[in-house]
Amino acid sequence: MPLDRSATWPYEDGEPGHFSYARADHPTGVACEDALGALDGGHALLYPSGMGAVTTVVLTMLGPGGRVALAEGAYYGHRTLLDHLRPWGVDVVEFDQTGQPPDDVELILVEAPANPLLTMPDLEAAAAHPAPVVCDATVASPLRLRPLEHGCDVALHSVTKILAGHDDALAGVTVTSDENLRDRLRLTRRLAGIVASAETAWLVHRGLDTLAVRLDRQEATARILAERLEAHDAVETVRYPGFSFLLSFDVAGGEVAGRVERAVRTIVNATSLGGTRSKLEARHRWEGDRIPSGLLRLSVGLEGPEVLWADLEQALATA
Ligand code: PLP
Repeated sequence: MPLDRSATWPYEDGEPGHFSYARADHPTGVACEDALGALDGGHALLYPSGMGAVTTVVLTMLGPGGRVALAEGAYYGHRTLLDHLRPWGVDVVEFDQTGQPPDDVELILVEAPANPLLTMPDLEAAAAHPAPVVCDATVASPLRLRPLEHGCDVALHSVTKILAGHDDALAGVTVTSDENLRDRLRLTRRLAGIVASAETAWLVHRGLDTLAVRLDRQEATARILAERLEAHDAVETVRYPGFSFLLSFDVAGGEVAGRVERAVRTIVNATSLGGTRSKLEARHRWEGDRIPSGLLRLSVGLEGPEVLWADLEQALATA
């Protein structure tokens, strides 16, 4: 795909043409959005990060003093962002996403599956609620779940993760089948300047070419590792929704989790998920008491399952 880094394009006969200024749209971004929209079955808009996508959603879909129902155990950054917006009157209530969302909210934000507690939302119950539903399906990816087909208004992804896939691009996307909503989101994006660069769009587009094979392989390995972790003496609980590349497991407390994460060698002790390299991280440092202190999150990459298991076994020997 051509990479067009232009910030501005000449007018045609004295009028702005299809592309005139990159803060509104640029050709590389639109090509990437076409590919992302096809995956989720709607109109996609690209942003410079997953949080850029969520911020645009909140600024567009929530009125002053609006209340958001947020899935318990969802990505901690969503909660932190909503708390940060409290001075603007934003209110947030957490709920168990396996059941009905609470009454009296203006926007529902669920996560499929939630990172790092890996619960799945009841999308039908959410869709039956009068408030619009946004489903962050970063961990499922559109190859395993298409939220719009389950009645959600917006599918949202941190594209930084499995979609781009190589830990070298930060991006986010919203997808909706409602053209009016797409236009409102695009207006916020343009006015606020929450725009992904052409380089980012190009890297994301290239990553999508290998998405299916990466996900198949990462998922197959994650299944094997989840089973073996279940049987390991040092592991108390394993959470794996049965698909995709992310799992979490508990060891006996924060100190043990710290030892295990520092002991991995092939697996990288780093944050983030969905990339080609496996990553392990004790999440308590970020999430605090929202999660058990001994919770370790493992994002399974493309390394061989036996190599990864050998690394986990030697790291768990420090537990
Ligand atoms: N949603 C989920 C499920 C995430 O895991 C993350 C980041 O880890 C985000 C959204 C935020 O995305 P980004 O880091 O691309 O801003």
